[in-house]
Amino acid sequence: MTEHVRVAVIGSGFGGLGAAVRLRREGITDFVILERASSVGGTWRDNSYPGCACDVPSHLYSFSFAPNPDWPRTFSGQEHIRAYLEHVTDVFGLRPHLRLDSEVLRMTWDARELRWDVETSAGRWFADVVVSATGPLSDPKIPEIPGLDSFPGKVFHSARWDHDADLAGQRVAMVGTGASAIQIVPALQPEVSRLTLFQRTPPWVMPRVDRAISGAERALHRALPVTAQARRGLLWGIRELQVQAFTKRPNQLGLVEKLARQNMGRAIKDPALRARLTPDYRIGCKRILLSSAYYPALAQPNVDVVASGLSEVRGSTLVAADGSEAEADVIVFGTGFHVTDMPIADRVVGAEGRTLAESWKDGMEALRGASAAGFPNWMTIIGPNTGLGNSSMILMIESQLNYLADYLRQLDVLGGRAALDARPGAVHAWNRRVQDRMRRTVWNTGGCTSWYLDANGRNTTVWPGTTSEFRRATRRVDLAEYEVLRAPAAPAGTRTADSEVTA
Ligand SMILES: Cc1cc2nc3c(=O)[nH]c(=O)nc-3n(C[C@H](O)[C@H](O)[C@H](O)COP(=O)(O)OP(=O)(O)OC[C@H]3O[C@@H](n4cnc5c(N)ncnc54)[C@H](O)[C@@H]3O)c2cc1C
Repeated sequence: MTEHVRVAVIGSGFGGLGAAVRLRREGITDFVILERASSVGGTWRDNSYPGCACDVPSHLYSFSFAPNPDWPRTFSGQEHIRAYLEHVTDVFGLRPHLRLDSEVLRMTWDARELRWDVETSAGRWFADVVVSATGPLSDPKIPEIPGLDSFPGKVFHSARWDHDADLAGQRVAMVGTGASAIQIVPALQPEVSRLTLFQRTPPWVMPRVDRAISGAERALHRALPVTAQARRGLLWGIRELQVQAFTKRPNQLGLVEKLARQNMGRAIKDPALRARLTPDYRIGCKRILLSSAYYPALAQPNVDVVASGLSEVRGSTLVAADGSEAEADVIVFGTGFHVTDMPIADRVVGAEGRTLAESWKDGMEALRGASAAGFPNWMTIIGPNTGLGNSSMILMIESQLNYLADYLRQLDVLGGRAALDARPGAVHAWNRRVQDRMRRTVWNTGGCTSWYLDANGRNTTVWPGTTSEFRRATRRVDLAEYEVLRAPAAPAGTRTADSEVTA
């Protein structure tokens, strides 16, 4: 039996859960949340590595409609963020909608019935609208390293931490120096016998002003919620003011670069190590990382920084691209995710029988970060060019939820069986505007290669503006940007697509 729902939400991270809350607030209860894992939480369920925490303060990195006066730290740890998402699931009555252990394997647009045919590992659904919230950072990427199979010890990715691996007293190799690695290194350094860090490109690292939020502050936020709102507003406003430097005046970032050098200089006294750790690109080109513990950990005698990527494995010997060798018992990959080649794109088959991956072969693009041409009534949360270099992704998610709500209202107003398909011209025009603005940004001009860029060197991930600009751009659906599709009238006496349950 295949059930029909109005909306199928895929994923139960901040994006999927946020969409579900918004649907309920719009009075829509005919929906399911399809999640491949056995619990909710997305990023904050999958990343349980030692030291995992947000790098945007918790009072901003949380839903505006579900404030949490009890955040324990300015930058809360993974377990607290995960608990927050479980709490949101309960408080907003989302459990009955959840279909866990349901991996979406394929979804195909049915142009005759104007609905999606969604195949999952636990059954099949028909849905009028699909909200794809599968996350830009949810499918870990491990590079193909010759000889990796010959490694006798444990090998795992930071986003799939092996909690059975006892790392105490072991020789651990950490591959990568991104946002996860710089949290893992200080957490592991005191317990392992040797930590070898394979660094292809050094990051710029600024101090992280992390502290426990006092009982008095929390009590104040509980008693007077306006104080938590003011705190959030301040955190947001500071980040909005930084955007111009990233998007229009990268030269202004020179001062920040000086502060980052000082941060390194305070902990790293060895000039040779300092040279290895000093980036050769403009700060901000790659994500600016926050840590007060990373450099002090690298200065410890049981840590080696290899200023070169891992290129080959020969048994327990790891060989870097510069020819240097190191022995290891365990390899941890902090090598990021499939961002511009996300696996879900291979599983979405649109109106012309093409997959989203085929349609995006020259680069991802979606109208207002949400709708792809030829994929009617399919909307992605945190789609192309919605990422942020310096602020909370929850702000972008909430903007997209406004867009989703209006999209569903427009469908209601149209009445009958209707679908909206983004016009190719509107998608290209939006994308041209985004890419024009991208030209001056630090991400494109700062002299680095980063995961923000796709295989063609195009930045299809970051939003080149403020979060308020994005909020304005997604307030309403402009019907002129969409083609309205209508179901062909069924001949009299035949069964129509409106049947709730189809055998
Ligand atoms: C370690 C780490 C730290 C981060 N810290 C910050 C931060 O401090 N600030 C910030 O703004 N952002 C941060 N991010 C970015 C973060 O990914 C986003 O902020 C946000 O959590 C993304 O939410 P999401 O719901 O879109 O995706 P996710 O949280 O990734 O959720 C996607 C969900 O979809 C499910 N899914 C995927 N494919 C399928 C399928 N085929 N079928 C069914 N289910 C599927 C996954 O299992 C997952 O549960 C961080 C990311 C990582 C990895």
